This record gives sequence, C-alpha cells and structure tokens, in this order.
Amino acid sequence: VTEETVRFGRPTTELPVINALEAGFRKSLVTYEVKENKTLSEHKETNAETIFVDLQPKSEIKYVPGDHIGVMPVNRKEIVDAVLERLRGVEDLDKIVQLKIMKETLTPTGTVKNWERYERLPPASIRNIYTRFLDITTPPTTKVLKYLAESCTDEAEAEQINELVTDSNKYHDWISFHYPHLAEVFAQFPSCRPQAALLATLLSPLQPRFYSISSSLLAHPQRVHITVAVVVYKTQNGEGPMHYGVCSNYLKSLQPGDEIIAFIRHKPSFQMPKDISAPLILVGPGTGIAPFRGFWHHRRHLIKELVSHNPGPVWLFFGCRYKSMELYKEEKEEAVLDGTLHKARLALSKEEGDHRKYVQALLEDEGAEMTRLLVEEHGHFYVCGDCKMADDVEQKLEEIIQKHGDMTKEDAKEFIDSLRNENRYHEDIFGI
Ligand code: FAD
Repeated sequence: VTEETVRFGRPTTELPVINALEAGFRKSLVTYEVKENKTLSEHKETNAETIFVDLQPKSEIKYVPGDHIGVMPVNRKEIVDAVLERLRGVEDLDKIVQLKIMKETLTPTGTVKNWERYERLPPASIRNIYTRFLDITTPPTTKVLKYLAESCTDEAEAEQINELVTDSNKYHDWISFHYPHLAEVFAQFPSCRPQAALLATLLSPLQPRFYSISSSLLAHPQRVHITVAVVVYKTQNGEGPMHYGVCSNYLKSLQPGDEIIAFIRHKPSFQMPKDISAPLILVGPGTGIAPFRGFWHHRRHLIKELVSHNPGPVWLFFGCRYKSMELYKEEKEEAVLDGTLHKARLALSKEEGDHRKYVQALLEDEGAEMTRLLVEEHGHFYVCGDCKMADDVEQKLEEIIQKHGDMTKEDAKEFIDSLRNENRYHEDIFGI
C-alpha cells in the first residue's frame, strides 16, 4: 500500500461506535454504565493506586466468578490530539469516513482499478479511528518508522529514523529508554507528517484489556465489579515523562453515568467447584485478589441465601508491598466474621518492621493443614496475578507438599501434576 493507493472515502453505512467496534473486532459487545468509581488503595510515594469500578450492562449478561470482562479502551485525548495535528490528508476529523484501498485487477481489456473497503477498519470518523481503533501508544514498529522516515521533510530527521529501522541495537535501546508513544515520536521528529490513511493501515489495532470480574451475579444481579491497578510510570529510567496505561487510566477517568463498551470472556478453568464442601486455597497478591472477591461474594450468597450445607474451608492469601495498599480489608474481615472465609492472611513485602514477607511465607506457615486439605480433602488451589509470582508459589507449594505430605521431590511434583489433571490447580495469570 502506498499513499496513492489508500484514501478515506464516503462510507456506504454510518455505524454507531458500538457497532463499528463490533464490526472491527468481530465481537458481540455490550454498553455498560458506570455506577461507581472509587479508589480502593493508594500509595502516593510510589504512585500506586487501585480502583474499584461498578458497571451496569445495558443488556442482559451472564458470567460466573472467575470470568473476565474485556474492556474496549479509549486512547488519551492529549495523545490523540497531538497525533491528529500532524496527519496529512484530513478534511474533517469528525465526519464518518471509510478507509479504502485501491485494488488492480487484470481483465482482457486491461487493468481495472477499484477502490475497495479496507476490512480492518469500519466506518468511523478519523478522530474515532485514532481514539478507539488504533494503538498509538505502543512504541512504533520498524515498519511504521520506515514510513515515518519517508514522510519527513527534513532529511537529517529521516536519516535518524532510518538508522533506527536498520540498526536493531539502536532501535531496542531507543525503545527501552523512551518507550515512546506516537505523539512523542512526532515531538522528537518535528518534520514528520504522515498521511492519515496510510498510517492507519500500518498501526496495530487497539486491543481490548481484560479484567478479572470481582463480583457475583447472585450477590449483585446484572452488575460487574472490577479491581484495577492504575498503570503509571516514568520512562528514561524513571527520569522521563510520565506514561499512563491506556485502559486503566481510561477507567480511572470515568464518572458515574459514563458508558464503556465491553464483552464477557468465560474462563472455565478458573471456576469454583460445584461441590461446595471442597476446600479452597486462594492465593492472590495485588490485583490478583480480583476474582476471589467474586468467589467470596458468590459463596456467601450460596451459603446464606440458598442454605447450602457443609461448605468447605476457604483460605485467602493476599499480599502487597505496604499496609496502605491492602485491598478489601473491611470486606475480608466481614467475610471471616460471617464464616464465608475461614482465613484471610496478609503478607506485606516492603513495610518497615520485621514482618516483611511474601504470600509464599504465609503458605509455609499454614503448610501442614494446607497439605492435608489438598491431599486428603480434595481441596482446590487457585493462584491469580503475575507470572513470576505464580511460578514462585508453585515452587513453594511443591516444597510444602514434599515436607508435610512426606513425599520425595518427584512425588510432590507428580502430586501437583495430578492436581492440574483433576482440574484442582487453577491459574489466572496476567502480566509478566
Ligand atoms: P497499557 O497501555 O497496556 O500499558 C502497559 C504497558 O506499559 C506494559 O505492558 C509495559 O509495556 C508498559 N509498562 C508498564 N509499567 C511500566 C514501567 N514501570 N516501565 C516501563 N514500561 C512499563 N489488571 C488489573 O488491574 N486487574 C485485573 O483484574 C486484571 N485481570 C487481568 C486478567 C487477564 C486474563 C489479563 C490478561 C490481564 C489482566 N489485567 C488485570 C491486566 C490488564 O488487562 C491490563 O494489562 C492493565 O490494566 C494495563 O493496561 P493499560 O491499558 O492500562 O496499560
């Protein structure tokens, strides 16, 4: 595709945003109204914040605790505006247009040129295309950079960009130091003026972000609660400009009455067992607690409202860096008091004093009884959060089972494999 073979044309249909997103992502989507949006925990020194968002769908939804909601994000206005300002070939930012590509077909009478619809982008305004459909914050690929170099009017700038394209060390150093979004690339190369249509074909689609649902339909009919860590960080080894994660900051900016577009994604491997008497060990540091709040709300309802008998023990292991980062403190205490949770343990990894520990240390404390619950009582083990923590937890569990189950290392490994095979070891991993 070149600047001559791509253009914005008149659309055959005009679609509301939700239908345009459905067409672009080939997914069935639902609009949700924000009912509440509040800070759950905050640690000012490290810029860490976790928020709680209560969402009400506009049409009926179904989920069970353990499922995810996929949120269609919206790019930050200041970045979109800075990008739009630089684009060539834009008549009206807010008129609905359709991206079209010229296709040449050979016929007996010669070559026929046709402008065909570009399938990856539905009819939408250029502002909306750059706001909701295109990823403008992940650093540009070399393919995008190559085109940006071509679009520079200043030769020295073009040369600088081309060096990044051809020298992979330079490219990787540049990315890891600046982690630049598109507006920052434009700021670094002021003569860069790409064509809006061609650039739109080169950028990746803006992907939905997943959040573990923190509620239960039994306890909160037709509601979805989410627990979101707001991603902010400074580039250039902490000395550079502040960067804001697209979706978590979009969610943070929402007010009651605002609407978002999302879909439910089922996660059958992370559900609670049907048998309410099975013991549950839940390990979820940080936002890893998100699905477990849904679990305890659901179980409380099953036990109290539906009078289910013989509920098994539920142990929750939560960890965070500082005391002020603890999530759902009062709710957990209430759940322990009313018997929904049997243990709710807390590990603080950075708090001053002698209690610095990770969730693994808590598991060790409870090792003997936990081993009994898993080996003899057919318990289920759940771990939610980042990949490194999940690996460390598995490693620790293996040691615990080896010690308290009087097993060899191999036997303990085999036992964990058998937990997985019997669908009793459940993981919900996000982040690295
Ligand atoms: P993005 O715009 O996607 O930015 C994040 C990127 O910024 C990172 O990938 C990294 O490249 C970069 N970055 C971040 N920090 C730094 C840093 N310090 N230095 C340099 N670069 C950095 N999140 C929750 O909060 N709650 C949940 O319940 C939850 N559940 C999830 C379930 C699943 C199955 C998955 C896959 C993810 C889940 N997540 C959850 C993560 C969530 O989907 C998003 O990835 C997260 O909110 C960040 O998205 P964002 O758009 O705000 O940030």
